[in-house]
Amino acid sequence: MNVTVCEVCSGSTFKSLFEKDNESYQQCVTCGLIRIYPQPSDERLNKIYNEDYPQIWGNDENVYRPLKEKLNRMIFNYIKAREREKTEKSGY
Ligand SMILES: [Zn+2]
Repeated sequence: MNVTVCEVCSGSTFKSLFEKDNESYQQCVTCGLIRIYPQPSDERLNKIYNEDYPQIWGNDENVYRPLKEKLNRMIFNYIKAREREKTEKSGY
């Protein structure tokens, strides 16, 4: 199987957690990221974001949109922090 590196830490070792609907859920052993592999198509991602998110946070876009943006920022900051950490460790 052609395994791409981790999107967060660039680690290359994943352990398979389970499979559902012909998709493999795997976890990066280095940073703990859980991902679906292969990455879902844009169509599938749109379906997930457009259908499931409003169901979780209510159907009022004014309610869930700020939450979604906050979550996106948190993920972005997390990834940035990991990159900084990695850069500091490698001594550059
Ligand atoms: Zn990782």
